[in-house]
Amino acid sequence: MICIQLDYKICEGSTCGKCAYVCPNNVFKIENKSIDITSPSYCKLCKECMEVCPHAAINIKTKKSAICGY
Ligand code: SF4
Ligand code: SF4
Repeated sequence: MICIQLDYKICEGSTCGKCAYVCPNNVFKIENKSIDITSPSYCKLCKECMEVCPHAAINIKTKKSAICGY
């Protein structure tokens, strides 16, 4: 499974929003000035969100387990 971790301590939320705008598969949603990871199963591992993030706040891993374990 694909595990997407967003570090909310350094994420700028809706004042940035670049990950939500760049993701071709609508994995993120801007909700109440924050970024929600609403559809991680849609992720195609293109890593565009990681490339545009100004703070390296996004971490994506693939795991064999059905649990992300963060
Ligand atoms: S890696 Fe690509 S598909 Fe996955 S969340 Fe990031 S931008 Fe979206
Ligand atoms: S691109 Fe990075 S800083 Fe900007 S909203 Fe997404 S996770 Fe937060």
